[in-house]
Amino acid sequence: MKYLRQLELFLTRFFRPVEMAAHRYLLAPIRFLLKQIDPLAAKIEGTLFKKILQLTIYPLFLVLTFVIGFKLVENGITFKTFTDTIIVFLVFGAVFAPLERLIPWSKRWQDDTELPSDWFLFFGGKVWGDYINKPLRIAATAWVVQEISPEFGKQIWPIQLHPVLQVLLLLSVSDFFRYWYHRWMHTNELMWRWHAVHHSSERLYWFNGTRSHPLEGLVSSIIWAIPFALIKAPVEIVFVTNLLGRTIGRFQHTNMDLILGPFDYIFSSPKNHRYHHSKSHVIGHTNYGGDVIFWDILFGTFYLPKGEEPSDDIGIEEMPNYPKSFFGLMMAPFTYGTLKKEMEELNQSKKLTTLENQTENHNAYRSTNS
Ligand SMILES: [Zn+2]
Ligand SMILES: [Zn+2]
Repeated sequence: MKYLRQLELFLTRFFRPVEMAAHRYLLAPIRFLLKQIDPLAAKIEGTLFKKILQLTIYPLFLVLTFVIGFKLVENGITFKTFTDTIIVFLVFGAVFAPLERLIPWSKRWQDDTELPSDWFLFFGGKVWGDYINKPLRIAATAWVVQEISPEFGKQIWPIQLHPVLQVLLLLSVSDFFRYWYHRWMHTNELMWRWHAVHHSSERLYWFNGTRSHPLEGLVSSIIWAIPFALIKAPVEIVFVTNLLGRTIGRFQHTNMDLILGPFDYIFSSPKNHRYHHSKSHVIGHTNYGGDVIFWDILFGTFYLPKGEEPSDDIGIEEMPNYPKSFFGLMMAPFTYGTLKKEMEELNQSKKLTTLENQTENHNAYRSTNS
């Protein structure tokens, strides 16, 4: 795999400048518009208006998702095509990006110049997701449904419950599977190779919840689709649950400074997810929930110390050479062994330098005292 790493470094040398230039110039107008919000952000600092925003944005968006979701499905509008999903993202971005600028949690995370790979991962992931993942996922779920009678799911689904409760129930059940898959990806090194791409991000904001390796997405989407296929909830419930998952996902990685109170103990929130992205493995191996957080509370992996704030210094600490470019990230699961070796060599040389310095200091001490 050493050769793969060399190939990656070779490709990166050529394409990284293109990646950086595209990111810098294509996004320049958006960056300019967002910067216009800064004076307003400074003006509302410490005001009651800001407090109201911090308290109300999250519950307001949850309610809006339910209202808009049920209205859309009532009118026969569901998001099916590639363009549909892009439009949904643009709508989220048009609202989330200005709000992140107005009430930022970390000023450091406002600097986006180092992360053009998010855009490539998003579009690449979308093309892969729609044209490769989808047919495979449909085939896998069709097989499961064929093996287990679809009537089974219909019989157990509580259709008599209020639709909002049905959505929350479906969200919680599917997140149970997601919780265990996510936990497995953190505790098994072979799985971590894929998931590390998501954790290589050095800042969190509304857009990078979608940052993951396409092959990780393939396995996870099949695993998550199976409960949906078996449970057989009505189609409108599945649609609204899906939409609610998108809203929660954008908030989970947002850089907005929100005051969530009890929501931090129900959903996978920005605050508890920031701990999940911690550089420390001990802290990072917590808060696995994708949509809800109570599976973590139940299975002992919840972490939210009172009176403390998570650090905004996030990423993969032990691997300073971990790639940043699109090509590098695509190849990172395959070059992981070489990256690990590079890390060990780096640690070894650090240890040697410390030892040499200690010996030198010791000798100097002896010569001055003899
Ligand atoms: Zn994770
Ligand atoms: Zn994340």
